[in-house]
Amino acid sequence: MGRIALLPDEIVNKIAAGEIIERPVSIVKELIENSLDAGSTEIRIDIEKGGKQLIRVSDDGCGIASEEAQLAFERHATSKIQSSEDLHEIATMGFRGEALASIAAVSQVQIRTRREEEAAGTSLYLVGGKVQNHQPAAAPRGTLFESRNLFFNTPARKKFLKSDGTEASAITHMVHAFAMAHPEISFFLHHDQREVLRCPRTATLRERIFQIFGAELLDQLLELNESLYHFQLTGFISNTGALKSNKNYQYFFINRRMVKDKVLANSVYVAYRVYAQTGQYPVAFLFLEMPPSMVDVNVHPAKYEVRFLQQSLVQKGIIDAIQKALNVVRPLPSFQLQQTPYIPRYSAPELNLQNTGAQPAGFPEEMPAGPGLSMPAPAFRKMPEPGEYKIVGHYDNTYIVLSDEGGLILVDQHVAHERVLYEQLLQRQERQEMRRQNLLIPLVLELNPAQMMLMEDYADRFQELGFDLEIFGNGSVIIREIPELLVDANYSAAIQRLVNDLERLYRDGVLESFAEEMRKSMSCQAAVKINMPLTREKMEWLIAELLKTNTPQVCPHGRPIILRISHYEIEKNFKRI
Ligand code: ADP
Ligand code: MG
Repeated sequence: MGRIALLPDEIVNKIAAGEIIERPVSIVKELIENSLDAGSTEIRIDIEKGGKQLIRVSDDGCGIASEEAQLAFERHATSKIQSSEDLHEIATMGFRGEALASIAAVSQVQIRTRREEEAAGTSLYLVGGKVQNHQPAAAPRGTLFESRNLFFNTPARKKFLKSDGTEASAITHMVHAFAMAHPEISFFLHHDQREVLRCPRTATLRERIFQIFGAELLDQLLELNESLYHFQLTGFISNTGALKSNKNYQYFFINRRMVKDKVLANSVYVAYRVYAQTGQYPVAFLFLEMPPSMVDVNVHPAKYEVRFLQQSLVQKGIIDAIQKALNVVRPLPSFQLQQTPYIPRYSAPELNLQNTGAQPAGFPEEMPAGPGLSMPAPAFRKMPEPGEYKIVGHYDNTYIVLSDEGGLILVDQHVAHERVLYEQLLQRQERQEMRRQNLLIPLVLELNPAQMMLMEDYADRFQELGFDLEIFGNGSVIIREIPELLVDANYSAAIQRLVNDLERLYRDGVLESFAEEMRKSMSCQAAVKINMPLTREKMEWLIAELLKTNTPQVCPHGRPIILRISHYEIEKNFKRI
């Protein structure tokens, strides 16, 4: 065994750096915090290749004095504590003087900075933490910080980085959080030279949310403002009809610092339990203000965990406040209803079938028979045989009632139609035969910068879906042709939904399922809604088409289409057998 020796500095640095700097987003977080601490009013972030190639944060803050620039990169070098009295602050706010040293240890760092009172600024270049170059340089007041080629000297760690898109969306999420916590500061974010976020300084959180997420989301939010025990809760939450399919729209802040905390997330979950189905999550931008002594935000400096002194009070306070806000809009369901989740009804008034007539135009006469399900469906999902059933009626303007030898069958008209349209889309797309319709008056869509960036990337894919669109630089897209499928739907809303779907895929890092998700979304939006009267002809057409599909039992989203009540069950219940 060798002798005991101190590890060389270089290795110590790399080990410690790993604790703080796990991914590009960790660097972005540390740099933005420094810019905020420096009193900046404008922070601009540029990243390339998801931040792996470049992260640049520039601010108009106080800058670093020439003679202190090198010192700032020493471990435990900080200007933020002078005396041991400040030590409590260190514990609560995490000023540990380690960030710059850690970032420099794992990348190639260039800074350019100038304090107001200095005539010339400073430029400093470090590789793997070692100063390569330090010289005076002209610079505007403030600090420009670049970190290039993250983990260039620790290839093993580099391998753990995710795709550019995933790393970029983590960064976008983080910048959104800072921007929401500081509406009074301008934030700009660019990825690979393209604008992802443009937030000039503004007065209120409401306006900031508008800048980041747009009017459509803002319209679906309720404002919170509650004093609770020792703390204050403000922010915005979804109304019950506007839930999302992931948790990406949940941001929690304690004393204006973002945290990722299970207690808070769980409180939101509980508050919405009655309203949300599985897989549905409310939007929640929640800000808690509380005395620093009531919360330890530094359980892990890089992971945002917190520990509350009075956890159950915090939980109860949040749940009560949210439920109070929701009840202003919608009275609590009666006791019995509380047992089952609230299921929002489709409310859009369009009826595609009605417009297309009994023999809907353009639907192919023959659908090739598919391979069918590999697993036998359970008895209560067993389909009737083509031609061997009768249409008995229409129940609740939602379910088509059939009978056959085996008994009674209910078919949900919305999901049935959705399945039919989905399979048609799939076939037409495979054969590249998407049917298009020219719009007499072109449609202009206003998009936010993140959506704009995605639309530029996905314009060709939308083309394949049957759209003809043109992208304008000023945040708008002009649509001249749409898929025939959407003509009778409220197509302007439908297209906006598709763009939102695209953004959701991007946020979830699952853009590879683009085509599939767009097919599902388009067929859902074009399908006949529930609570719609149907003529007998339309019912006949729909059932016949459904029976030609490959998977008539479930809709593309996985919901059941049919329910069978067997003749035996009926007879048994009438005590005939
Ligand atoms: P800490 O933020 O914990 O003090 P850092 O390693 O992040 O430690 O930064 C070290 C020091 O460098 C800070 O205390 C501050 O004096 C200076 N500094 C870093 N970034 C900036 C900036 N953007 N503007 C002005 N000063 C900065
Ligand atoms: Mg710092």
